[in-house]
This record gives sequence, C-alpha cells and structure tokens, in this order.
Amino acid sequence: MGSENYEASAYRIMTTIASNMQAVRTAIAVAASKVGRDPDDVCLLAVSKNFPPDALRAAYNEGQVCFAESYVQEALDKIAALQELVVEWHFIGPIQSNKTRAIAENFSWVHSVDRLKVAERLSGQRPLTLPPLQVCLQVNISKEASKSGVAAIEAEELARAISKLPNLRLRGLMAVPEPSDDVAEQHDSFAQLRRLYEQMNRHGLNLDTLSMGMSHDFAAAIAEGATMVRIGTAIFGERLKNKEQL
Ligand SMILES: *Cc1c(COP(=O)(O)O)cnc(C)c1O
Repeated sequence: MGSENYEASAYRIMTTIASNMQAVRTAIAVAASKVGRDPDDVCLLAVSKNFPPDALRAAYNEGQVCFAESYVQEALDKIAALQELVVEWHFIGPIQSNKTRAIAENFSWVHSVDRLKVAERLSGQRPLTLPPLQVCLQVNISKEASKSGVAAIEAEELARAISKLPNLRLRGLMAVPEPSDDVAEQHDSFAQLRRLYEQMNRHGLNLDTLSMGMSHDFAAAIAEGATMVRIGTAIFGERLKNKEQL
C-alpha cells in the first residue's frame, strides 16, 4: 500500500473495523443461539490496546460502548483523547501497585485483580464521587506458575475479602487460558472457570459476570457460559507492540 495516501488508508481501516464489528456480533449471536442462550446476555468488550483513538472511534460509531485496555499510560492518553464520547472503560492488564490510583480514578471496571493488596488500594483510591469500581477476580486456570491470576484454590477466600471492601463491587471471575487450537481443550478451561463461579455462588458470593473468551476462542467461552467476551484482533486487526511492552 506504499502509494495509498493517508486519507485513503484511514478510510480503509475505518470500514474494515465497521465490517469486523458486524462479523463479530454475528458470530457471538450464532455461538449463543447454538447453546440456547440469548445473545444479549453476552456483553462484547472491544479490546483496543495498541490501537489509536481513531480506531476506537470507528468501533464507537458502530455502536460499541465498552472498551478494554491493558496498559495504564496508553489508556489514559486515549481516555483524554476520546473525552467527548460516552465510553465505559474496562482495565484488563497486569496491575502494578503504583498504577492503582490512575485505574481507580479512570475506569468503570477492572478484570485483572488477583491480590488483596491491589484490591485494597483500588478501594481506598476510588473517588467517592464515582460509583463503586466493578471488579472481576482474575483466576489462573492454566497451572503455570509464571502466569498472573490467583490460584483457583485460593480464589474464594480472596473473593470474600474483596467483597467486604467498601468502594469495590465484586462482579465475577476472569481468566486468560493458555491459547489452544483444540476446541475441546478450550471448553475444558472455560468449564473450570464456570464451575468455580457456580461454586462461589452456591456459597453465597452473588457473582453475575464470567469474563472469558478472546478472538480465537470466544465461541467455546460462550458455550461454557461467558457473560463478557474480550475481543481485540477480530475487531481491530493484528497488534504491534506498544512502548509499555518493550
Ligand atoms: C489482549 C487481550 C485480549 C484480546 O485478545 P485478542 O486475541 O486480540 O482478541 C483479551 N483479554 C486480555 C486479558 C488481553 O490482554
């Protein structure tokens, strides 16, 4: 595309995002109806990390309201650039202690809480002028020591502690399983998270959110009960790394 001018290339990207949005919505509806679920019970989060504000604007113009970001500084820049839009911002990346204030002040949801210390800071730093911060506990269902997320066996105790914090509202569980092309394996991982969620609800935790499923595995996640899917590549295209990742 060396000879394409900037306006033409921007136009091509906008129309691609618009048609990707339609395709993803259709695929979500198909996956839901296959298992007898109402597609409206599956919330689509557009994962916009590494994409510029204009890409989010293109999705917004297609009716997308919920956007998810993984890197705090990059997210703050976009939140500022898109101030005139009515967007619900979700944070889904690793949380460093020194970034909790920015997250507490600028996001509606956080999906990646996996330790009490971080939850306590988020609660303490949540401005009282805002509604409680909506929180999902990130659970490590891949058994890999290096991965983020609380171990499944410790998740309920952590959930109980978090549910007592005044300025957070614990909504559910989130997981990022090992990527797998094996559909049966995808189902296994998501079913593990769903069983944990059901068990916690039997024990009185009152959760209503299962945040699971990405571009390559959201159909399996929906079949296993996902109420939120986090989709980046299938909407915006392949990502290049940003400077916070290098
Ligand atoms: C990047 C990311 C996604 C989106 O992944 P895609 O494969 O691009 O759909 C979802 N969840 C988390 C936690 C992510 O970091």
